[in-house]
Amino acid sequence: GQCITHCPVGALRERDDTDKVWAAIDNPKKITVAQVAPAVRAAWGEALGLSREEATIGKIMDSLKRMGVDYVFDTTFSADLTIMEEGNEFLTRLSEGQLKDRPMFTSCCPGWIRFIKSQYPHLVPQLSSAKSPQQMFGAVMKTYFAKSINVNPEDIYTISVMPCVAKKGECNMELFYEEYAGHDVDTVLSTRELTRMIRSAHIDPTTLEDIQCDELMKEGSGAGVIFGATGGVMEAALRSAYYLVTGTNPDADAFSVVRAKKFGEEHVEAEVTIKDATVRAAVVSGLANTRKLIDAIERGDVHYDFVEVMACPGGCVGGGGQPIHDGEELAFERGKNLYFLDKNADIRFSHENPDILKLYADYFEKPLSHKSHTLLHTDHNAWDMPKQN
Ligand code: SF4
Repeated sequence: GQCITHCPVGALRERDDTDKVWAAIDNPKKITVAQVAPAVRAAWGEALGLSREEATIGKIMDSLKRMGVDYVFDTTFSADLTIMEEGNEFLTRLSEGQLKDRPMFTSCCPGWIRFIKSQYPHLVPQLSSAKSPQQMFGAVMKTYFAKSINVNPEDIYTISVMPCVAKKGECNMELFYEEYAGHDVDTVLSTRELTRMIRSAHIDPTTLEDIQCDELMKEGSGAGVIFGATGGVMEAALRSAYYLVTGTNPDADAFSVVRAKKFGEEHVEAEVTIKDATVRAAVVSGLANTRKLIDAIERGDVHYDFVEVMACPGGCVGGGGQPIHDGEELAFERGKNLYFLDKNADIRFSHENPDILKLYADYFEKPLSHKSHTLLHTDHNAWDMPKQN
């Protein structure tokens, strides 16, 4: 079972940041803008007695608004943005022959970033330079979104609700842009902290209604939703990489081979053909499994082009910030919920998210542009995860 002392990223003591968020909500000078990660929707209801069907993302949005948050968004939007940046980065590195010896690794899990930096520092250049969806969204909220509502970035207070305790350290990553110097994300709440806030605000969960996210960054694709489960980032990236190379969409489920078949699998690997190229992909979760896989890569026993790593077994659905149930491992069940949501989503490709297309047309111009590099990518050597969360 998942419990605090088993937290795979070593955050033994939990920090409570709910007071900071209440203070920001009460501060008339601050405009509070929240995002909620994909994996949160698969677990928050467990702590409040809601069934999986009842515990929708729209009700989380309603709870945040009732608590006084000004604008609410779904991190699925910036998961799509991550795919646009990371998918293009992968294809560039592949075509330039940079992945002949070693793969590109995903960069959206701070537990993994801390692990690679301390255990395999020579592999840090193989990390994608893309920031995680949490950080990308924070940067977009303080620039593109702030402009759209005519306020200065200093007046925007960004909150994220995450399944993760390591995300509390990741948000120390800095944002420098034009005259603004600060952070992408001001405060990270875990799923458990969100449910504590709902309780302390005396909101009866059975009265929550489905409300939509706010305009401008409203949409998220099914590909973005599955970021919360192991294999989801890889599958989403392959869907869009296929489109980028061939100009047509694959079947949305064409790459479902990278999904976990059962809980606790060592890793999943797949060879995927895109036009005349073969992409060798691997997906791993849990740091013990990760170490085994990396050691095999380093010995030359296996070769991959692209590897997804998540520190928590089963991916973010099993994160250390999710509700705790003694003796139960719910990650796999929660992951199935995300695949169900993807299957039933109107949009299943990150590159078809209309709000992402508008963001590029009106602001970033194209993936990997100068502005994208400034706001959406990071130099992994320029910041460190704090030792204690
Ligand atoms: Fe956080 Fe775990 Fe997800 Fe990594 S896998 S981002 S440590 S919840």
